[in-house]
Amino acid sequence: MRTCLLFLCLALWIGTKALAQELGKPLSDWQPGGLDIHHINTGQGNATFIILPEGTTLLVDAGAINSNDWRTNKPRNIPTKPNNSRQAGEWIARYIQNALRFQRTPAIDYALITHFHDDHMGTPLNVTKRSASGYVLTGITEVGEYIPIRKILDRGWPDYAYPRSFANDSMVANYRQFLNWQIKQKRVNVERFQAGRTDQIISINQTALRQKYSFQIINLAVNGQIRTGNGRQTQSLFPDLTSLKPADYPNENMCSIAFQIRYGQFDYFSGGDIQGVLQFGAPAWHDVETPIANVVGPVDVQLVDHHGYADSQNGALLKSLRPRVLVVPAWASSHPAPDVLERIYSEQLYKGERDVFAINLLEDAKKAISSFLPGLKSQSGHVVIRVAPGGATYRVLILSDSDESFTVKAIYGPYQSE
Ligand SMILES: [Zn+2]
Repeated sequence: MRTCLLFLCLALWIGTKALAQELGKPLSDWQPGGLDIHHINTGQGNATFIILPEGTTLLVDAGAINSNDWRTNKPRNIPTKPNNSRQAGEWIARYIQNALRFQRTPAIDYALITHFHDDHMGTPLNVTKRSASGYVLTGITEVGEYIPIRKILDRGWPDYAYPRSFANDSMVANYRQFLNWQIKQKRVNVERFQAGRTDQIISINQTALRQKYSFQIINLAVNGQIRTGNGRQTQSLFPDLTSLKPADYPNENMCSIAFQIRYGQFDYFSGGDIQGVLQFGAPAWHDVETPIANVVGPVDVQLVDHHGYADSQNGALLKSLRPRVLVVPAWASSHPAPDVLERIYSEQLYKGERDVFAINLLEDAKKAISSFLPGLKSQSGHVVIRVAPGGATYRVLILSDSDESFTVKAIYGPYQSE
C-alpha cells in the first residue's frame, strides 16, 4: 500500500513537472496531447509554427522582406531577430529545429503560404544566397533548405494565374523554381488550398494518439471563395473577373488563405492579410472579413488580420470571433493602427476581458499607439500559445527573441477555452 502511494506521488510529481513552465527557464518540450502555436518573431514578417496535438507539424508563412525596403529602412527600424548574422528563413528553420528537439529527424509535415507577399513567403530581391540548383534562398525556400517539408499548400498551384498571371513576378518565379526542384527530388507534394474542406490538413500520425487527440482544421477562405458551413460548399465573394477591369481585380491581401483550428473546446483563427474596413467608395466585396466572420463564430485566440493595419479587424469580425487573446504579427511602423486597437478593446463589440500580445513593435508604432501601450501584454518576443491536452485550457508564453535560448520571459493564464 505504502509503495503504491509512493509510486502515485512520484507519478504525479513527474506529471506536474512535465507540464510546469518556470519563468526564466527555456520552454519545456511539447507533450503529446498539447497544441503548441508558436508566433515566431524575426522582424521580417509572419511565421507561425504549430505542433498539433498528436504531433503533426504545420508552418504557416515564412516571411523575409526586402532589406532595402522603404517600409522599414529607417534609423529606428528593428533589425532581423535575433540578429543580422543570418536571414529570416534560416532563423525560422533553427527555431523549428529547436521546438522539435525531442524528435530525431525534425520535419515540417505541412507548410501553408497564405498569399504571395514578401512578409509571408520571402523575397529574392537583394539576396545573394542560393541553393545548389540555383534558386534564391529566402523565406520559405530557405526554410526548405534546412528542414524537409512534406506538403506545401498555397493559393496558386498549379498555374499561379488568379486573379492575374504571376509570370513577371520574380518572387513567385523563384518560389516555383524551388517547388519544381523539390518535386523532382520527390521531397514535397504541392496542393492548392481549397476553401470548404476539413480534410486537407489532417493527422499524419499512424499511432493511437491520432484518435486520442483528434483535431480539425477548417479551410475557411482563399481567393474570395468562402466556406458556407454547409458541407464543402463555398460562396464566391468576388465578382466574375470578366466583369472587372484588370485594375479593379481583387488585390493579393484579399485573396489570403484563412483557416480555423479546433481542438476540444479550443478554437484558433488565422486569416493572413484579409481586410474588412472599406476605403471610401470601394465595392462591398472588398470586405473579406465580414463573410468569414459569419461562418466562424467565437474563438479563443486570433492571429490579428493584416498585422493590425488600419484596414483590418472590422466590427463584424470582432463581434463574431470575440477573441479572448489576440496576437499581433507586427513588423512595420503602421502595425497595429490605433483605430484597430480601439476596436479590439471596444466592449461595445463584445463584453469581457481580452489580452493583446504584439510580437514586434517599431518605435514609430509605439508613438502612434502610445495610449494603448500600458494595456498591451507584450511588445516584443515570440508568442507561444500552449493548449493543454484535451483543449480545455491554455497559456500564453512570451519567449526571448534576442537569442535562441527559448527563455520564457512571461506567462499568462491559464485561460479557459470557451
Ligand atoms: Zn503581410
